[in-house]
Amino acid sequence: MNGMTLVGIDDREGEHPAPKLATRTPVLVLNQNYQPLNICDVRRAISLLGRGKAETLDVTDTLLRSAYAAVPAPTVIRLVYMVKRPIHQRRLSRREIFVRDGFRCQYCGTQTRHLTLDHVIPRSRGGQQTWTNVVSACTECNHHKAGRTPLEARMYLMREPQAPRPNPYAFFHVGHVRESWRPFLPWLEVENGDRSRLSPVAAGG
Ligand SMILES: [Zn+2]
Repeated sequence: MNGMTLVGIDDREGEHPAPKLATRTPVLVLNQNYQPLNICDVRRAISLLGRGKAETLDVTDTLLRSAYAAVPAPTVIRLVYMVKRPIHQRRLSRREIFVRDGFRCQYCGTQTRHLTLDHVIPRSRGGQQTWTNVVSACTECNHHKAGRTPLEARMYLMREPQAPRPNPYAFFHVGHVRESWRPFLPWLEVENGDRSRLSPVAAGG
């Protein structure tokens, strides 16, 4: 193979440390049933492979040289056993609240980028910083409502605030998608011709 790169991953004590470039290369980890599970680095992938816990599904042209052999660096591996998928509960943040509410004031319905966070039950009255008690509000509505409850202010929510559903692919929201991963991520769509950006598509869409 032309252009093949030899990279050492030998990390025995007192020896040269492994080049970060190669060992940090992201590897897609699939569950036993081929569902994407997470992303790890080459070092972790090699460890899983070496202990017989995973099999290689795709490799690069880069050779990883150990004390005994040279093996192509994996880009996709599959676990040989089933892992229960962890639930990635979305963290409550200003941005996530605005996204959930469609950048719409939940009292007057105005869609704007100039939003504030409103505690439905005011914090001074024991209201919590939770998905069900924090909504997007325009500055006017927020000032008008002030320290009152919706009932006292006679301001009613467009809909009951709820926690968004956990996103099982939250771990894909940052970073690049390697071309070799795409066959294993059929729900990804190329967005605006930028092949490094992710855009999850709805099932069947
Ligand atoms: Zn408003």
